[in-house]
Amino acid sequence: MDNNKKSMETIVNLCKGRGFVYPGSEIYGGLANTWDYGPLGSQMKMNLKAEWWKFFVQKRPDMVGLDSAIFMNPKVWEASGHVANFSDPLVDCKSCKSRHRADHIIEAQADIDVEGKTTQEIDEIIASKGVKCPKCGEKNFTPVRKFNLLFETLLGVIEGDKSSIYLRGETAQGIFVNFKNILQSSRKKLPFGVCQIGKAFRNEITPGNFTFRTLEFEQAEIEYFFNPAKQDWEKLFDELLGSMKEFLTTRLGLKDENLRELEHAKEKLSHYSKKTVDFEFNYPFGFKELTGCAYRTDFDLATHSKASGQDLTYYEQEANEHVAPHVIEPSFGVDRMILATIVDAYDEEGEGEEKRTVLRFNKYMAPYQVAVLPLSKKDELSVVAQPIFNTLLDSFRVDYDETQSIGKRYRRQDEIGTLYCITVDFDSINDHMVTVRERDSMKQERVPIAELVSYLGKLLA
Ligand code: ATP
Repeated sequence: MDNNKKSMETIVNLCKGRGFVYPGSEIYGGLANTWDYGPLGSQMKMNLKAEWWKFFVQKRPDMVGLDSAIFMNPKVWEASGHVANFSDPLVDCKSCKSRHRADHIIEAQADIDVEGKTTQEIDEIIASKGVKCPKCGEKNFTPVRKFNLLFETLLGVIEGDKSSIYLRGETAQGIFVNFKNILQSSRKKLPFGVCQIGKAFRNEITPGNFTFRTLEFEQAEIEYFFNPAKQDWEKLFDELLGSMKEFLTTRLGLKDENLRELEHAKEKLSHYSKKTVDFEFNYPFGFKELTGCAYRTDFDLATHSKASGQDLTYYEQEANEHVAPHVIEPSFGVDRMILATIVDAYDEEGEGEEKRTVLRFNKYMAPYQVAVLPLSKKDELSVVAQPIFNTLLDSFRVDYDETQSIGKRYRRQDEIGTLYCITVDFDSINDHMVTVRERDSMKQERVPIAELVSYLGKLLA
């Protein structure tokens, strides 16, 4: 099914109804743009993060992991440039009082990228191109103002003696400030990468589109350090981009045609960045950013070295010299990856009574890989089905369901993306066989209970 034909409303409803994602704080009337991951969504997120960690950290001798704190010394954010520059341009429509990201409406209506432009320059573009309010169509905007995205909170317990501190706006800074510690403790040689998964917080002006843009989200970021005199950055960049694509297509199972690369125009890049390529995904609301990959030169380590007074260079033994490592940053949004995976897997087939909704998750992402379904609740079936369930739990993610008709239970498992359903029926008591039903083809096969673990193991290995 074409992603553009899928409706966000249907997906949001399925997510709530089946326990993937709920609106945050719902019993108190909610809190706009906050979302909670339910039993299936939280399992999926675990699966995704575990696969990412396996793919980039455990299976790569040139990468290590990190889990740094959300709170950091505010000097980190001053040095990194976030306090001064981490902002979005905002305009209010004076006619209908709606609020917009100026860069977004200009890009949509005039196809101009305003990154790096001053507020005055953006005002001029809005006026000269006749940009209209997307809500009411009027051309009656306030002047552009820049809003810093960093969330501030207070540290300390005594009133009057509290100090201001930021919630981190990205996980990457934790990697840069630990560079020296990682180098000394892991004794890694360049080139090497440091990977981190964790929460980040941004006071977004226009959050929305379900979990696509929220104030609190999770990132999975890599800083890949190298010696620019020894490694060809363009080759490294392409290799990292290739790994990102491989992860997105093989581990999340995203379809090639629903991903596209977008290289940022040279004039849009920050002064320290040489190249940035995003992977955009075809959401029901159009192609939008899923991940980014940026060559950031030695900007981050150099600025932290200067601001902290610490030596953040790397000693090249053979050449007997200290080099300033350069860095390429592949950056993923965990919540956007979950959303993309659900959207891409969503499918409807058949008509009327025969109609079914299927989430075609792969074995890595499916919350449950297998479901054990005794034909009825009768004890004589439970005594066969329960031990099967217990045995399978050691090797797979398994659900057990004995309520409602078998047809309804198949539909439910299809809707949550379970790959195989195992039906225990009255014949199973005597012939010690069960029926294994495959989700996509709905083909059924009788398999001896004694061979079930190896049978499923081959399919899900
Ligand atoms: P955008 O242009 O969409 O605001 P960005 O370029 O500012 O994103 P980065 O700073 O590169 O984003 O962050 C890396 C990744 O983190 C993004 O590719 C995206 O997947 C995710 N991300 C960024 N902001 C948000 C957000 N507000 N909500 C959910 N995910 C986000």
